[in-house]
Amino acid sequence: KQRAKKWILVDRGAEEAIVVQGRNLLAPGVKDYDEDIREGDFVYVVNEEWKAIAVGKIARGFKQKLSERRGMIAKIRRFAEAKDAEVLAKKASWGDAVDANRSFLEMMERKAITFIQEVCRKSDDPVLVSFSGGKDSLATLLLVKKALESLGKEFYVLFTDTGIEYPETINYIKRILRQLRLEDKTISVSSFVNFFKALDLFGPPARDFRWCCKTCKLAPIAYAIKSLGGKCLTFIGLREMESAKRRRQGAVWEGIWVKGQVGISPIYDWSTLNVWLYLFKEGVELNPLYYKGLERIGCWVCPSMDLAEMRIVEEIIGPSWHGYLKKISESLSLSEQEVKLGLWRWRFKPPRWLRSGEKKMHRRQARYLYEKKEVRIEKEDDFKRLLSILKTMYEVHDEGGQVTLLDKERSIAILMREKEKIIIEAESRHWLKILRGTARALACVKCMLCFATCPNKAIELRQEGIEVSTEKCTACGECNYTCPVWAYSLKAPHIAKRLLE
Ligand code: SF4
Ligand code: SF4
Ligand code: SF4
Repeated sequence: KQRAKKWILVDRGAEEAIVVQGRNLLAPGVKDYDEDIREGDFVYVVNEEWKAIAVGKIARGFKQKLSERRGMIAKIRRFAEAKDAEVLAKKASWGDAVDANRSFLEMMERKAITFIQEVCRKSDDPVLVSFSGGKDSLATLLLVKKALESLGKEFYVLFTDTGIEYPETINYIKRILRQLRLEDKTISVSSFVNFFKALDLFGPPARDFRWCCKTCKLAPIAYAIKSLGGKCLTFIGLREMESAKRRRQGAVWEGIWVKGQVGISPIYDWSTLNVWLYLFKEGVELNPLYYKGLERIGCWVCPSMDLAEMRIVEEIIGPSWHGYLKKISESLSLSEQEVKLGLWRWRFKPPRWLRSGEKKMHRRQARYLYEKKEVRIEKEDDFKRLLSILKTMYEVHDEGGQVTLLDKERSIAILMREKEKIIIEAESRHWLKILRGTARALACVKCMLCFATCPNKAIELRQEGIEVSTEKCTACGECNYTCPVWAYSLKAPHIAKRLLE
């Protein structure tokens, strides 16, 4: 007991409530505890015979609750038959952790392999494994390799270079694929967009504004899938514990942005610790950036990083990082201190972070956007391209100075040209579509996603952006819904505002 750490001793009543009824640990049931326990710690729950009965997470304000003898002390995560609580004589290594969990890890591996094989037996579509060089995609790759090699089924490894990857990651990917003898099964694709050019339009990516994923990753992936026949099963290392959105998504999902893709995660219910222990058990080389302290491997501009990781990125990337932060501070009008505090990682800050007047300004901007009903188009070519995009949604009647748009319900919108302005007479729903269409016509970043999406090869690339061929287009509308400029011109009103003015 003297050597034991992170324990909490409970009485018989609490033991019964936890083990028999599956309840959480409440204050009246606590008899004693390790004084070093802190809020959020994982602890062993031991009974009066000093046998481990459960593992739980210490709740907020537990000391106060204990003094008042009321409230929840620990949320119980797992409970089992009482076991002798063994205290290791020496400091445990990761090897000890793997050994102690070996049978559990083997069970998780068997379950994942069976799942992969079952999914692949049900479909003849080609199989891709998305590999980013991070731990989750590495675990997924190892599992798919084991599952499909024993089944004798082909698969390909897909790596997408966004152009803002760490050089260490690119080198590591080459090394590990060589070690796994998967070089000749690798499809390596690159973004069609220069991230830093797109940055001028969208502004810095943020946790609530990940335009970079759509513009830099999806089109090359869509083309890779097209080259495999237009349909595929893609194994992706996503885990439900990463976010509420991923939890809702499930272990199998249909691609929304990339048509023909079914996403599958064999590690959907794994924890971070499960993944690490599995990789240690497999003894594979890990991305060296983890040893520098990064928790997530993505692009070096990624808004998912925390403040500690920002310091590490600064060390790894050097002057380019400083240049990027300077650009961010100018584009978002943030002070040096605010940039250092990482406020750029959110596009729409939580209300309590807003400076005085900012909330009102946002409301004013949104109202302006909805009420303006006017766009600025100077060049004849731009107007022609706008009309070609509007034809993907409307029947278009161009009568010189006035254009009439008719949708399927014969509802009308009118565009009137006045020098360099187009004035729109339409209900808000039409106006917002026209505004998004204008964004596509004037601010296309040439990500090529609509080219990959269009079933009729109806989109043509011009110097200034895209134009839709009216002969080939069947007005299915798909290209609009996949376009990141279309999607974000309303989500980020600063884009639309720039077009209006
Ligand atoms: S990893 Fe981060 S920066 Fe890179 S594309 Fe995804 S969200 Fe954007
Ligand atoms: S996806 Fe192709 S066919 Fe469909 S609306 Fe767009 S351009 Fe037309
Ligand atoms: S119009 Fe097409 S190429 Fe241009 S940004 Fe949108 S999806 Fe990408």
